[in-house]
Amino acid sequence: MDPITALLHEALEGVRGLDAGAPASYIPELANADPELLSLAVVGPHGRVRVVGDVEQDFTIQSISKPFVLALALADRGRDAVLRKVGAEPSGEPFNAISLEAGTGRPANPMVNAGAIATSALIPGDGVDDRTARIVAGLSAFAGRSLWVDEQVYASESGTGDRNRALAHLLRSYGVIDGSVDIAVETYFRQCSLLVTARDLAVMGATLAFGGINPVTGDRVVAEAVARDVLSIMTSCGMYDYSGEWLLRVGLPAKSGVSGGLMAVAPSQFGVAAFSPRLDAYGNSVRGVAVIESLSERFGMHLLEPH
Ligand code: GLU
Repeated sequence: MDPITALLHEALEGVRGLDAGAPASYIPELANADPELLSLAVVGPHGRVRVVGDVEQDFTIQSISKPFVLALALADRGRDAVLRKVGAEPSGEPFNAISLEAGTGRPANPMVNAGAIATSALIPGDGVDDRTARIVAGLSAFAGRSLWVDEQVYASESGTGDRNRALAHLLRSYGVIDGSVDIAVETYFRQCSLLVTARDLAVMGATLAFGGINPVTGDRVVAEAVARDVLSIMTSCGMYDYSGEWLLRVGLPAKSGVSGGLMAVAPSQFGVAAFSPRLDAYGNSVRGVAVIESLSERFGMHLLEPH
């Protein structure tokens, strides 16, 4: 085992005993996750990949799709057009809050559900399949391999997604979404249901870390300015209503999702991702937060630390 893999292994074993929290239960399929699963992956310069724990285990990407669909929308439409539909302010409210800017109906940011539905609706395409295909192709380029949708989780999300549907109807009433509510929301459910591993998320994070170039495939996925915009929003809004404390303690742009995935980015250095399904009260993976916090401390990764 090389020394960095050994360190990752040690960090993972350091959090294995944490058993607080529980898998998300509001989407029935997610409640069935094995709470003991645990994995960690890091991707550095030149695409060097290191993985420890249950590395083969896949899970649905959920909210970690949000920064990448934002990247695609920014690339397609430009920053001003995106900001006309969705803000860039931390909401301080839960991810599924029904809270839109007075007057305009703009959601606070693209990392809460309302904002993510608005962002997803900016991806061009004729119907759910066409739009989903563009999103899948885009996220696959970030991951460096072909991703696909878990149909069972998608069905479970769609079957219980009334709150997201209600948000989408509100967005349409303000003109934030122009077209069909059904297309917007089903596309969003499908993007959340894409299957990934911790390795995939680490590669996706590394692509943001290296200015939009996937360090494994060598392909440019988005422009440097797009990657920077996405990292900025992840820094202020990526960890639900724990984003401020996360920045204080860990100091890295990050995004978590309700299936227990957590991805963080050290710009110009690496992408890191953890997976463990038990969530805390904010909706962040308990062991994911702990392991990435310990790595950040150990390697002095806080962005605001003088180097
Ligand atoms: N599909 C989930 C929802 O919209 C994503 C939530 C999340 O990971 O935060 O409810």
